[in-house]
Amino acid sequence: MGEIAENLADIRVRVAEAAKRSGRAPDEVELLVVTKTWPAEIVREVVEEGQILLGENKVQEALAKAPLLPGNLAWHLIGPLQRNKIRKALPLFKTIHGISSLRLAEGVNRVAKELGLFPKVFLQVNIGEEERKSGFLREELVDDLESLLSLDTLEILGLMTIPPIEKDVERARNWFAQLRSLRDELEERGGVRLPDLSMGMSHDFELAIEEGSTIVRVGSAIFGQRARKEKLGEQI
Ligand SMILES: *Cc1c(COP(=O)(O)O)cnc(C)c1O
Repeated sequence: MGEIAENLADIRVRVAEAAKRSGRAPDEVELLVVTKTWPAEIVREVVEEGQILLGENKVQEALAKAPLLPGNLAWHLIGPLQRNKIRKALPLFKTIHGISSLRLAEGVNRVAKELGLFPKVFLQVNIGEEERKSGFLREELVDDLESLLSLDTLEILGLMTIPPIEKDVERARNWFAQLRSLRDELEERGGVRLPDLSMGMSHDFELAIEEGSTIVRVGSAIFGQRARKEKLGEQI
């Protein structure tokens, strides 16, 4: 087994164990393997291990990569989506994690309607209210919820976040718990189900699962460090 396949097997076990610790079945938490910056021949190593869910953060990069890989893969867009890229993004990405404003959601809904598509989306929350990060602020999301729910092509799965970087484990845990309780509050206010929480990355996915994550986004713990420095969740 190659190193990437070994890392993937290890992460799968850790995801399943964390799910059990949180009182859930292993298959109730999904692993999204983040393939950004890695070429198709590297990505193939996880695909050969049966990995179907893949995450990319740049539309152009994913459009170039996807045709080089099998057609049955489920590509998720995890990065910021510029409004002028919506039309290109929707046919490839069935799930979009970075819906960061009502305006963007409206744009996606409009284009989806034109194309006859029904994208699954996560509402991205700037849970730490950080200056440079994109995403809804809590209050904003409460105010915009009704309008978001009226966008009829969008299947809103739940909330996504990239929390502030914390050295202290309990502080990190607290951000995830806050996203979950915001989700609970929105469900109650809107009278809707928002079943999914997209939270947890290489360094903190186990904590996120313990706090209720249903899909973790893991890249470097599988492929190694990326050469390109990412500005996670920042406005562009
Ligand atoms: C790159 C990226 C990840 C994966 O980060 P790792 O630390 O490599 O696991 C997860 N989520 C988003 C939004 C990303 O851009």
